[in-house]
Amino acid sequence: MRTEPDRGWTGPRQALVIGAGLSGSAVAYSLANRGWAVTVLDQAAGVGAGASGLPVGLAAPHVSPDDNVLSRITRAGVQATLKRAETLLQSGTDWSLSGVLEHNLGGKRRLAAADLNAHPSDGDTLNPTIQASAAQIAAAGLPLGTPALWHGHAGWLRPRPLVAAQLKTTGIQVRWSQKVTSIARRADGWAVLGAQGETLGQAPLLVVASAFDSLTLLQDQPGFAVPLNPLRGQVSFGLMADVHGALGVGSSTSANTTRKPTLPPFPVNGHGSFISGVPTLDGELGWFIGSTFERNCEQAPVRIEDHAANQVRLATLLPDLGEAMKPQFESEKIQGWAGLRCTLPNRLPAVGPIDNQRLPGLWISAGMGARGISLAVLCGELTAACLASEPMPLPPELAKHLWAERYAST
Ligand SMILES: Cc1cc2nc3c(=O)[nH]c(=O)nc-3n(C[C@H](O)[C@H](O)[C@H](O)COP(=O)(O)OP(=O)(O)OC[C@H]3O[C@@H](n4cnc5c(N)ncnc54)[C@H](O)[C@@H]3O)c2cc1C
Repeated sequence: MRTEPDRGWTGPRQALVIGAGLSGSAVAYSLANRGWAVTVLDQAAGVGAGASGLPVGLAAPHVSPDDNVLSRITRAGVQATLKRAETLLQSGTDWSLSGVLEHNLGGKRRLAAADLNAHPSDGDTLNPTIQASAAQIAAAGLPLGTPALWHGHAGWLRPRPLVAAQLKTTGIQVRWSQKVTSIARRADGWAVLGAQGETLGQAPLLVVASAFDSLTLLQDQPGFAVPLNPLRGQVSFGLMADVHGALGVGSSTSANTTRKPTLPPFPVNGHGSFISGVPTLDGELGWFIGSTFERNCEQAPVRIEDHAANQVRLATLLPDLGEAMKPQFESEKIQGWAGLRCTLPNRLPAVGPIDNQRLPGLWISAGMGARGISLAVLCGELTAACLASEPMPLPPELAKHLWAERYAST
C-alpha cells in the first residue's frame, strides 16, 4: 500500500469535478481558494440531488476506547466542517454548534481511558467529548444514570446550504444538468463525455466525486479497484408545530415513570439520531429521526415501512419521547427523505489520485459513507494541500487511511 501520493502539481491549475454534493463542492472550494479554475458538473438541475440533499445531519465525533483511526480522522473532520460552517453559514438556520448528547446504548461508545478530553497528537486543542452531566441527561428526557457522552464540539448541519455556499466561491463554475456517462484520457488531461459521446468538459485534473456513480465512471480504468457500495437510508420527519400540540397533553404515557416527555434542546445520537427545531426543506421548523440502513439497494425511494423502523429507533433512543410521538408516525403528516450513502469497507473515504502512475491527473473524493458532513470538507482540504505541496491537514499516519491509492491494484 502506498502511504502517500506524489505531492505537488506542475501543470495548469484547471480542474473538472464530477458531482456537486458535499464531496465535489468541498474539493472545488479548496482548489478555488488556492487559485485553481474549477468547473463542477452535475447531472441534476440544482443542489441536493444525491445524499447531500439530506434535510439535516450531525457533525459529531466518533469515539472508541483506543481512540482508533476512525475516531481520530472523524474528530479532525468535524473540526474542519465546523470551521467551514462558521465561515460560510448562518448559525441557527443552516447549522448550530448545539453540542450532541450520545446515548450510550449497549455501552458501545466508550472514551479512551488514558485521556478523556484532549488529543494533542492530532493538534486537537478542543475538548470534544466528555461524560454527559446529570443536567444534560435530564434535558434529553432520559432517566438519571443513563450512560451518555457529551460532544461539546459538535452539532447539526443542513448539507444543502453548505454545498451551495462552497460552490459560490470565486473561481468555480457550476454546470447543472450535465450527466457524465464516460471519461477519456486525452494527451493534455481528461475529458468527460455525455450520452452521445459529446465532450462536456476537459481539464488536466479530473476529480470524480459522484458518490456511488463514481463506480460506473471509473470501473473500466486500469488499476481502479476502489470497492464502492451503496447503502440506502431514510429519515422520517414532521413539523414542530404538530409535536408541540401532542406533547402539550401532559404526563408521560410510560407506565413506570412520571417524567413528562420532552424535546431535547440538542440532538441526541446513539441509535440513529433525533434532531429538532431545525428548518425543513420547506422552511418550517421540524423534527427528524433517522436513519435506516439498507444494503444492496441502488435506488432511494421513500418507504412507509421505514417510518415504522424509525419510530422504533426513536423509542429506543428516547423512550418517553418515542412513546409520546408514536401517533406522529401513524399520521398522514409524516414525511420522509431517502438517499444513498456511498460506503467503503473501513468506513473511510477514498481521496486523491487513483493511480498516479497509470492514471495521472485522475483523482477521486468519494465513499463518505454515513459521515459526509464530518469528512467531506477535510477530504477537500487534503486534496488541495496535496496538489499544492502544503502541510497536510492530517498527520501522514492518519492520511494514509484515506488515500485512494491504498486500493490501487497491481
Ligand atoms: C439517510 C442518510 C442520513 C445521513 N446522515 C448523516 C449524518 O447525520 N451525518 C453525516 O456526516 N452524514 C450523513 N449522511 C451521509 C452524507 O449525506 C453523505 O456522506 C454525503 O452527502 C455524500 O456526499 P457526496 O458529495 O459524496 O455524494 P452526493 O451528495 O450523493 O453527491 C453526488 C453528486 O454526484 C452527482 N452525480 C452522480 N452521478 C453523476 C454523473 N454521472 N454525472 C454528473 N453528476 C453525477 C449527483 O447528482 C450528486 O449531486 C447521511 C446519508 C443518508 C442517506
